[in-house]
Amino acid sequence: MTTKTFNALISRGIPSNIADSIIKNKYTLQTLKLETSDKLKKLGLTEEQIEQIYHEERPPIPLDIVTKLIFESRNTCNICRDQSLPIIIHHIIPWHQSRNNAETNLILLCLLCHDKVHSKRDLTYNISFEQLKDLKQKWLKETKTHDSKIIQGLIIEKKANWDYINLGRLLELASSLNISLTTDYTSHLSQYNIVNNSGLLNDIESWKIKQLPQYYLYDFGIGNYLYYNYKDILTKVVGKIDIVNLDNIWSKKNLLTFVSTGTIIYCSGGLYFKDESEFNKDRNQSRRCYLQKRNIKVETTFDAYYSTSSSAKHDHLCGHKSGSILGIIKSIEVQEGILYITISCIAIGMNLKQGLNLSTLLPYDNISAIDFDTEDD
Ligand SMILES: [Zn+2]
Ligand SMILES: [Zn+2]
Repeated sequence: MTTKTFNALISRGIPSNIADSIIKNKYTLQTLKLETSDKLKKLGLTEEQIEQIYHEERPPIPLDIVTKLIFESRNTCNICRDQSLPIIIHHIIPWHQSRNNAETNLILLCLLCHDKVHSKRDLTYNISFEQLKDLKQKWLKETKTHDSKIIQGLIIEKKANWDYINLGRLLELASSLNISLTTDYTSHLSQYNIVNNSGLLNDIESWKIKQLPQYYLYDFGIGNYLYYNYKDILTKVVGKIDIVNLDNIWSKKNLLTFVSTGTIIYCSGGLYFKDESEFNKDRNQSRRCYLQKRNIKVETTFDAYYSTSSSAKHDHLCGHKSGSILGIIKSIEVQEGILYITISCIAIGMNLKQGLNLSTLLPYDNISAIDFDTEDD
């Protein structure tokens, strides 16, 4: 398995381009150990790296740390940020001084920047440990924001259409982010006493409209205004939160490294819906939704009363559809080899991608150390 060899080599301080060529020559860590040092030199390894392969005096960096480091840095040098260059894992405070393989002491560098950092003893390139840490933090922050921005772009897109919005969760998030509930639609809706002046929903019984909603919340004359109102609030909320795109880290190992209870996630793919209640009117029309790809299953239940339209309720959120979910992780557990992620759903939409292909927007393709396809244990 090449990912395994790649990770094994990179965790022993071997640069990514040398690791790639070693893999091309069909070596594994075990077969490398059996080769002569001359042969290893020809493969591009330095004396120090050869020593490390033979004797392993320095413990390799744990693989979950390697994965996280490479992913969060987008396989890119934290100093020059040139995505085309091979990388190496560098100890911020050198190993011989720190004996520290913790993630906080590691940084991804290209070979050029790595050389410069190491020659700082000659004072030709004066960069302190603190500066290195600072550069790393800045780069990680940028990549994280970049991810969130891409997802936000999809979600905020004007044409994006939500089939379900969890008003409880939405208002909770809005309030924790100090986002006002008033929108362009507030004054119109308040004329009918649907919302009050500060945008809060009034009791349905007090709405001044001819026919009150029965089958779903927006099931009345100007129900679409109420939907636009909540879509606006959702858009504002999404603009202010960090969202982890599960689509890009879809493997058990990665997910366990990157997300935990409380993380706000986005994922897309085939969604399965199933009614869990016999009711078709009023609240508590519980419906289950899950998305499973390989050995990972994302599950949620929601109240179909909060479907945003008749077609959402009776068509989009039924059976087997392709769509996207935004939610907050409630629990993560492994059962019989399947990773179950239960989320509290914030919203579900069927056509959020609008033809945008995430993988072309994000530099993930070249992250060979990330285990996208292999079954992990
Ligand atoms: Zn660099
Ligand atoms: Zn180094």
